[in-house]
Amino acid sequence: MYSRTQNENGTYNTRCLDCFMTIASCVESSKELDQLEAHHICPEKALCHLFEQEQQHAAHAHK
Ligand SMILES: [Zn+2]
Repeated sequence: MYSRTQNENGTYNTRCLDCFMTIASCVESSKELDQLEAHHICPEKALCHLFEQEQQHAAHAHK
């Protein structure tokens, strides 16, 4: 989930809607945006994933 905005000079900014981090600004093409977004390692998602794993782990341990 990313929020893209266009600047007055035609370049783009993109922001991650999960961690609200600006991934890139003044990007000239949407193709470049795709690449930059693909390379974003989201700390929010990583944390979420870790938390889920730990919960599963805990659930198993209590059985
Ligand atoms: Zn993110």
